Amino acid sequence: MSVQVVRALLAAFFSALIALPVGYFVAVWAGWTLFCTGLGLQLAFHFRNFARLERWSRNPIVDPSLEGEGAWDGVFGRLYQHEKDLRGQIAARDQEIALLIAAGQALTDGVVLLDGDNQILFCNTTAESQLGLVVQTDRGQPVVNLVRHPEFVDYLLLGDFSRPLTLRSERGEDRVLSIYIIPYAGKRRLMQIKDVTQSDRLDRMRRDFVANVSHELRTPLTVLAGFLETLQEIDVDREERTRYLELMAEQSRRMQSIVQDLLTLSSIESAPPPANDVVDMASLIDKLRRDAEALSAGRHQIVVEADSKADLRGSEPELVSAFGNLVSNAVRYTPPGGTIRIIWHTGAQGGEFAVEDTGIGIDAKHVPRLTERFYRVDRGRSRDAGGTGLGLAIVKHTLNRHQAQLDIKSTPGVGSRFSARFATRRVVDV
Ligand code: ADP
Repeated sequence: MSVQVVRALLAAFFSALIALPVGYFVAVWAGWTLFCTGLGLQLAFHFRNFARLERWSRNPIVDPSLEGEGAWDGVFGRLYQHEKDLRGQIAARDQEIALLIAAGQALTDGVVLLDGDNQILFCNTTAESQLGLVVQTDRGQPVVNLVRHPEFVDYLLLGDFSRPLTLRSERGEDRVLSIYIIPYAGKRRLMQIKDVTQSDRLDRMRRDFVANVSHELRTPLTVLAGFLETLQEIDVDREERTRYLELMAEQSRRMQSIVQDLLTLSSIESAPPPANDVVDMASLIDKLRRDAEALSAGRHQIVVEADSKADLRGSEPELVSAFGNLVSNAVRYTPPGGTIRIIWHTGAQGGEFAVEDTGIGIDAKHVPRLTERFYRVDRGRSRDAGGTGLGLAIVKHTLNRHQAQLDIKSTPGVGSRFSARFATRRVVDV
């Protein structure tokens, strides 16, 4: 029996103890009156405390001034303590939840939590930007009402999540998302969204590259094999034989150029940062001029405009190959009679090496793609001019390695200007 009950019984017992002699010695009614008054006072006391308790239970705030009287003191004390503990636990749990939400927000992958009806319970900011959601307004909405991509809707509704879904963004950003759905806590689902745009692009580039290399090598190989077969099977005269051998040599040279350019590309791709030699620009430009004249064989006017005596810091073989590519392109894509300018200029902004021509020019739509491997405006023309389609890819890569920028300006039928801009720290004033 609790202390409070014992105390209440004792109070009733003492009322009876006082009322009994009064009833016996004074009058029975006086005894009863005294006993009933005692009990009534007890009842009033308990009723008062009960009413306070009832009032408090409607709004159980933690209030240290809340104290019971007499037997009620312990009850109020324990309730107060219980309420205080409960509030403490809720505050600690709120903090844990806030930390979990902060962890979810910190994830670089998108995360969306769905209930059993695929309604959004939570989504982090990464998922908001990936799927175009707004958590404040979209919480409680079925996710399929907001991400309406048919492939996504089918994937979610079919419920086979053994493989992730690859989704190409509908929002015109060319984004590729990989969506994983992980069921948890019964029918709930966790959507994990990875942005795989970069790896998808690399994958596509790798596939395209392999396909392009195979295609580029297959053509001259087919020609070579054809001539070889002819020579083996048919007895051709000496003149014809010489012509065939010349054509075969040409195809071999073509394959050699492709393989050489591929090797150059792969070596600069995997090489450590370029050397920091001081490249003598005067002699490099002189060599470029001589090479251009040899390639042009008198068909063009070659002009050097070097208004600076400064040199360049970088890898000499790489710069010779990159600048040489620009010069040979200018000669190959400029009809006879045209002019080719080799320009070297330095100033407060750094150094600029440029090659300008009065050649066939390039339509603006091709310019952003010129540095892609094997990209050519006119495949036949490039082949006839002895091109591999890798020259500008090598140029761009080399310039990147030297933290330089390639600018291309061109007007069809008027000419082109390819310029490489180097930062001041790469320019060495002589
Ligand atoms: P290629 O070996 O075919 O010349 P590049 O990578 O050097 O390959 O150049 C890519 C394409 O850019 C060429 O096929 C050509 O269409 C175009 N191009 C490059 N330089 C010039 C230029 N100076 N004038 C006109 N077109 C050019």
